[in-house]
Amino acid sequence: MELPFAESWRIKMVEPIKKSTREEREKWMKEADYNLFQLRSDQVYIDCLTDSGTGAMSDRQWAAVMMGDESYAGSSSFFHLKETINKITGFEYVIPTHQGRAAENVLFSHLVKAGSIVPGNSHFDTTKGHIESRKATALDCTIDEAKDTQLEIPFKGNVDPKKLEKALAEHHENVPFIIVTITNNTAGGQPVSMQNLREVRAIADKYGKRVVLDSARFAENAYFIKTREEGYADKTIKEIALEMFSLADGMTMSAKKDGIVNMGGFIATRHEDWYEGAKRFCIPFEGYLTYGGMNGRDMEALAVGLDENTEFDNLETRIHQVEFLAGLLDEYGIPYQRPVGGHAIFVDADKVLTKVPKEEFPAQTLAIELYLEAGVRGCEIGYILADRDPVTRENRFGGLDLLRLCVARRVYTDNHMRVIAAALKNVFDRRNEITRGVEIVWEAELMRHFTVKLKKLF
Ligand SMILES: *Cc1c(COP(=O)(O)O)cnc(C)c1O
Repeated sequence: MELPFAESWRIKMVEPIKKSTREEREKWMKEADYNLFQLRSDQVYIDCLTDSGTGAMSDRQWAAVMMGDESYAGSSSFFHLKETINKITGFEYVIPTHQGRAAENVLFSHLVKAGSIVPGNSHFDTTKGHIESRKATALDCTIDEAKDTQLEIPFKGNVDPKKLEKALAEHHENVPFIIVTITNNTAGGQPVSMQNLREVRAIADKYGKRVVLDSARFAENAYFIKTREEGYADKTIKEIALEMFSLADGMTMSAKKDGIVNMGGFIATRHEDWYEGAKRFCIPFEGYLTYGGMNGRDMEALAVGLDENTEFDNLETRIHQVEFLAGLLDEYGIPYQRPVGGHAIFVDADKVLTKVPKEEFPAQTLAIELYLEAGVRGCEIGYILADRDPVTRENRFGGLDLLRLCVARRVYTDNHMRVIAAALKNVFDRRNEITRGVEIVWEAELMRHFTVKLKKLF
């Protein structure tokens, strides 16, 4: 008999989690103004809010923590991190930051001006926030196929070369760089192919522009290239990563994702002028150049995390678990963004809660229902997250309205995945009784999803 698939690690330390009653959850949800970010984590049974900073570090990473050099300047931990990043990305210059958005803030302070246009593939919310807050425009050039959640294509995160070419033909004078997000988080954790990165490079070269990779999940992207793209099956993840980065000029990184640390980020680039420019903003915003918002011990743990998570076995275990959860949803007929992405399932709320009007935020409503059902916390990646149009101040209903269920790295077992799927099935089975959603009572101007206050209309 063929042996079943199993994790490439075993468990050395456990953390108890608690169940709750529906009554308790009703009360907590109301106190949190129907915003799942406002819940206390001990009010959550299985937390699928994000895969950011929620991963479990390995024994090697914890051992590295003890080796942290907390020197203010010239910390040896910085040099360990820098050497690892040099090796994995080929980028020579490294600026550590406290997380991914801080990397964006530092680099964009140097590069993005009022009136700038930054084309890319479904800019992540903080990326878009850092562009729009500088009175610049984030121009989405993702392939149209990404919007069709049921279409199965291997690289649904790709940039549409025609849209990119058009953007550059029209706006090249105002384009400081092109940004490609790997994997494409907003479009559903969908990968970008090496072929597509080559096409982007060619267009960038034609107009003399540079390319930034928003690299939070670059290792998962490399895994998909290895398993889906012709010619890469026999390459290692590290070889593929190096090739991906060879097609870019620099990167911003949220190390809380594929670095498998709880906090951290960095900028890396091959260009001295970008490094010199970004340096000026790192010092006032983040800290001195050899720590930039990170502890020495965290830089050590990150160096190990980057090395471990660019190994095939670790990535295979992770992606397999996400696919396991997706398989259960298939069994129950629950529609999600297909094929399943790298770090999460994106349930197509528009197709589940068909009776809830757009104006009442179906995905947020589904997230609330799932929490009330079983204490499972997901996250709306939809109309609330999309913020208002900066010019018209209207809600943006043009994109997808998804409930994201993130899978933390090396944290939950497949049995937890079974609970998540069963809870979602229970909500799905009574979907036609759910006809009303939520209304916004209070919201911030940018990135409103974190703090929005809602009223339940059902
Ligand atoms: C998480 C993330 C960011 C922002 O990083 P933080 O560490 O959360 O600040 C930027 N881009 C992408 C694609 C991300 O997933």
